[in-house]
Amino acid sequence: MKLKEIYSDKKSKTVISFEVFPPADENKKLLDEINILKQYNPEFTSLTYGAGGKGGKSFELLQQIKALDINVMPHFTCITSSKESITSALIKIEQSGIENILALRGDIPDTEIHKHFDFNYANELVSFIREKTNLSIGVAGYPEGHIESPDLYSDIQNLKKKVSAGADVIFTQLFFDNNKFFNYIDILRNEGINIPVVAGIMPIISEKQIQKMTSMAKITVPAVIKENIEKYKNDSKSLREFGIDYATKQCIELIKHSVAGLHFFTLNKAYSTSKILDNIKGEKWKI
Ligand code: FAD
Repeated sequence: MKLKEIYSDKKSKTVISFEVFPPADENKKLLDEINILKQYNPEFTSLTYGAGGKGGKSFELLQQIKALDINVMPHFTCITSSKESITSALIKIEQSGIENILALRGDIPDTEIHKHFDFNYANELVSFIREKTNLSIGVAGYPEGHIESPDLYSDIQNLKKKVSAGADVIFTQLFFDNNKFFNYIDILRNEGINIPVVAGIMPIISEKQIQKMTSMAKITVPAVIKENIEKYKNDSKSLREFGIDYATKQCIELIKHSVAGLHFFTLNKAYSTSKILDNIKGEKWKI
């Protein structure tokens, strides 16, 4: 099913979806975790893509996830790729029966190797995909602004370009403060961006994970999270349980505000995401 249909206004349920990444080791462990998550009936599972163009392994894994009878959405970055390579990858994706794609620019690599880009920004990739395929297109959104953007407003002006180019749905960067998300939606709607906005949820698992995420992106970490990271610095199980509890509360509030969807950054582990989904079982319906 296409993103457009999945997030159609006629659906009364908050859409649940998962994100996984190609593992460094064998795929089997990840496929086992995806199988555990399958019981929660996700509308789809998305697979991240290396900005350096590590597409080979991704395509094999996409097929393996699809073979589990799961609707799969590849992420796709363009900053280090040529039009030719993107065209052949898109043909391969469409021919395999995949209907959706998350169109991204990707992070600019440090190396000097990729000097000649065919694509500078994600809006150019969105136009290209729209022109060449029938895929339904998701794009990234940043409730606190993209890290390269001077401010949230100018980032939203650039988001508009992706929407005008044909994006169907916006998937947000993870956030820990729901008010940032609600504020973002208000601004988007005021700016005339009316497509569904899906909330990115990442359960807290470790201090290292939070440090990594916040070094790469503008993400406010509320004091209560900092306090609990400190409190449980030698007790990873308790920190993980705190993370489940925190994300559960976040999700319940988002559902109450009729969020279009919750997209879980699972970090390739079923445990925390499945506990959160158990906790919000009774809350899944929009009110
Ligand atoms: P863009 O939309 O192109 O924006 C990049 C920056 O340029 C922003 O600051 C924007 O304001 C500005 N900008 C945009 N368009 C223009 C324009 N036309 N003119 C001038 N300025 C402009 N990365 C991966 O490598 N692989 C993944 O699988 C992956 N998955 C992700 C999933 C989600 C849900 C999110 C939120 C991010 C993901 N990323 C992934 C990270 C993403 O690649 C980076 O954040 C990257 O730096 C920006 O990608 P983008 O598509 O948002 O870029």
